[in-house]
Amino acid sequence: MGSLTEQVKKMVGSYGTVRVGIATRQTLEGGPPSTDLTFIMPEARSAITFAIPLNKKYIRPFLAKEDRLSHEGDNLRANMLVTGIAAHLAKHLEQKGFPSQGVVANEFYREEPGIGRLGMHPDLSHRYLAVRSGVGWFGFSGNVITPEYGAAVILGTCVTSAELEPTDPLPPEENYCNRCKFCLASCCSGLMDPVEDAQVNLGGEKFSYAKRRNYLRCEFVCGGMTGLHSSKKWSTWSPGRFFIPDDDHAFREAMIKGIKAYDRRPPLEGGFPHILMRSKLYLTCGNCQLICWPDLEDRKENFRILTSSGVVIQRPDGSLERVSPEKAEAYVMSLDEEKRALYT
Ligand code: SF4
Ligand code: SF4
Repeated sequence: MGSLTEQVKKMVGSYGTVRVGIATRQTLEGGPPSTDLTFIMPEARSAITFAIPLNKKYIRPFLAKEDRLSHEGDNLRANMLVTGIAAHLAKHLEQKGFPSQGVVANEFYREEPGIGRLGMHPDLSHRYLAVRSGVGWFGFSGNVITPEYGAAVILGTCVTSAELEPTDPLPPEENYCNRCKFCLASCCSGLMDPVEDAQVNLGGEKFSYAKRRNYLRCEFVCGGMTGLHSSKKWSTWSPGRFFIPDDDHAFREAMIKGIKAYDRRPPLEGGFPHILMRSKLYLTCGNCQLICWPDLEDRKENFRILTSSGVVIQRPDGSLERVSPEKAEAYVMSLDEEKRALYT
C-alpha cells in the first residue's frame, strides 16, 4: 500500500488532478497568515494541495469574446470539483483516524476588524501552499503556473492532522515565466506592480512575484463593473466603460459608483451568486490567468486574440455583443442619459 503520503497522492491523482503536493506546518513556517493551517483546524499538521486543468478549448473563444458561457461553466465546475475532492479526501482521512478538513476552492473570506469580509483574504491560500509543495511556480502575475497547463488550473486543498511527508518546490531554474508580462498587459485594472516584487518566505524557501496594488482594482474589473482597457481598443466581457483610476485611494469611490450601475444593468445569462454581491457575478475577466500558457508563442497568440477582438456592449435584452471600438463608443453615446450611466 505504501506510506500514507503515497496513498493520498495516488488517491488525489485518481480524480483527474494533474499535480499534487504536500506542505506541512514546518514548510510553511514564517509565511503570511493565510498559510496558517491551524486557522482551518487547530490540530492540523499537513495540507495536500492539488490542481485540475481548465478546459483549454473554451479559453480562446472566451478571450475572443465569442463564447463566455462555455468557459464560465467549465470554471465553475472545476471549482466545485476541487472543493468536492478536498471534502472527499478529508472524509477518507478522517475514517483512517486523522481528523481533516476540505478547504473550498474559492469565495471564503476571513472576517476582519473594520472591513468584515471585504478585504477578501481567504481562510487559506492555495497559491502559497501550491508553490511551496511543488504543484507549480509563481509567475510574475502572482498566479500559480504549472509546467503542463500554465496558469489555467484551479487549485484545491485538504488540511489534515496526519503527519504527511512534505514535497519540494519545483526547481526555480525550470520556471517557464520569462517575464513576458502579457499578464500585465492583459489586465485592465493595473493590479500588478510593473516594477516592484513581493517576496514571501515559506519554511526557509523564498518566492517572489509582482507586488499587488490595491486589490479593489481586480474587484472593480474582475467583478464586472468595468472592463474597457485604457487604450479603449479592447475590453473584457464587461460592458462597463468606467474610468479606472491611477490612484489606489480612488477605488473605494469608483467601486461604489460601479456597483450601483452593475446592479441596475439587465441580467446576463449564466452567472452565479457571490457572498459579497447583491446581483449575480459573471465571469468577465481572469485574463492574467487564462493568457498564461507554458509556450511563449501560445501566450503571444492569446494576447493577440484578446486585444484584437474589440469591445463588448450590452443590448437592452441583456445580451452581450463584441463590436469594433468605434461602434461601441457610438452605441453607448446613442443611449439616453439614464441608460448610458449604467456603463460609463
Ligand atoms: S504571462 Fe508571462 S510574465 Fe506573466 S506569469 Fe505568464 S509567463 Fe510570467
Ligand atoms: S483577473 Fe482580470 S482584473 Fe484581476 S488581476 Fe487578472 S487580469 Fe487583472
